[in-house]
Amino acid sequence: MKIALIAHDKKKNDLVQFSTAYKSILEQHDLYATGTTGLKISEATGLQIHRFQSGPLGGDQEIGAMIAQNQMDMVIFFRDPLTAQPHEPDVTALIRLCDVYAVPLATNMGTAEVLIHGLQRGDLFWREIIKSRTGEQND
Ligand code: PGA
Repeated sequence: MKIALIAHDKKKNDLVQFSTAYKSILEQHDLYATGTTGLKISEATGLQIHRFQSGPLGGDQEIGAMIAQNQMDMVIFFRDPLTAQPHEPDVTALIRLCDVYAVPLATNMGTAEVLIHGLQRGDLFWREIIKSRTGEQND
C-alpha cells in the first residue's frame, strides 16, 4: 500500500512519535511525505520515505495528484487546527480529493491509530481491488 504522511509544524513531533511506534507496520509499505515531515520521520526512524516538496511549496498538491490518479491508498495528515496555514487552499484540496476517491484519511492521532491497525489487519485490501478494476498502470 502507498501511504502519505503529512504534519503541520506543531504536529510534526506527534507524527514522528506515531511513526516510531508503528515503524514495524509502516516499513512494510511504500511511504510518501511532504518535505520537512518526511525528513524528520526518516531521521528519527530510519524509514525509507519518498519526499515531495514541502507542503507550502506544493507538496500537498503533489500528494493530491497521486490521489487523483488513484495511486495513494491512505493519508495520515496531522493538521494543526489552531494555526493559520499559508497553503490552506492546498490543505482543503487534499482533504477534498481523499473524499472524492474514498481514500482513508486520518487528520488526528486518534483516527490514525484506528487506520494503522486496520491496515495491518487487512481492512484496506479493498483498495487493491479498486485499483485492479480501474486498470491502474503505474503501480
Ligand atoms: P512539510 O509540509 O512537511 O514540508 O512541513 C507539511 C505541510 O505544512 O503541509
